[in-house]
Amino acid sequence: PAEGIMQAFHENMDKKIKEAYPDAQTNLDLSYEISAHGIQKSTERIKGIKNIIAVASGKGGVGKSTTAVNLALALKEEGANAAILDADIYGPSIPRMLGVSGQPDSEDGKTLMPKIGHGLQSMSIGLLVEEDTPMIWRGPMVTQALEQLLTDTQWKDVDYLIIDLPPGTGDVQLTLCQKIPVSGAVIVTTPQDISLIDARKGLKMFEKVKVPVLGIIENMSGHICSNCGHEDHIFGKGGAQKMASDYSLDVLGSLPIDSQLRKSMDIGEPMIFEDENSKISQAYFELARSITGKISNFNKDLSRKFPKIVVEDS
Ligand code: ADP
Repeated sequence: PAEGIMQAFHENMDKKIKEAYPDAQTNLDLSYEISAHGIQKSTERIKGIKNIIAVASGKGGVGKSTTAVNLALALKEEGANAAILDADIYGPSIPRMLGVSGQPDSEDGKTLMPKIGHGLQSMSIGLLVEEDTPMIWRGPMVTQALEQLLTDTQWKDVDYLIIDLPPGTGDVQLTLCQKIPVSGAVIVTTPQDISLIDARKGLKMFEKVKVPVLGIIENMSGHICSNCGHEDHIFGKGGAQKMASDYSLDVLGSLPIDSQLRKSMDIGEPMIFEDENSKISQAYFELARSITGKISNFNKDLSRKFPKIVVEDS
């Protein structure tokens, strides 16, 4: 999905063709197609979903949910059918950030209909419990509840489902990564050492369960004073880049601290819609394109296209 760059891409290509064949009549028609890509061998594809992308962080409060919501919205704006599952069971904040509330509907009494917020299909445990009720569940209950939320939701024609994982690298996260059929994961961190140490643990966790890490997203990477324009690196500088080069990974994007972003997420009106050309919106669009670009290079899942082979005694 690359709506944001289609026109420029089209113009550029058209120019190149005309340069190469000045006398030819050209009619350039570009389109894109989103395929399902490989998942861990021990897992099975979920009905209605082509690709799952896990958004993880080593610790809480680094902006993982903010990144997950904006990434899903950016994917939608880029032309994909996107959805989000809030698996941060101890602090489900996606409903608030997406501006959805109320119990999800169920047409058959067994499965749940996703809640639609800003054009995204969404599901969260936060929709099933009161906002001020703490989830005092232990590990196995959490993983079971999340698996159920994932498989019992009636996802419809989803190209990319973003999963906002619970923060950390404990047993719950490890089990989830083993059981959920993900195409790839991204790790959100702030630039400071204390966050990066835990982000490295996240990386090791994905290695263990053979989930490809698509790259690192540095959030709160600096603050530009709205009065004087001075950039202040409140949480340090260059940390994600250092981690990326240590592990031969890419920094997929850097998002500054922005009070407008924070305010917009708090009221469930993400600022990505207000000004598509703002630096923050553009950073999320770029993030979406580089993530899906990377996934598109992975092997396609051809299991559904594979012919049925029958051996008969004739
Ligand atoms: P996590 O999911 O890692 O716990 P959240 O996404 O809930 O973190 O973010 C924690 C708080 O920080 C939220 O209030 C959110 O609005 C704010 N926040 C996240 N990223 C930014 C940013 N780049 N600039 C300003 N505030 C941010």
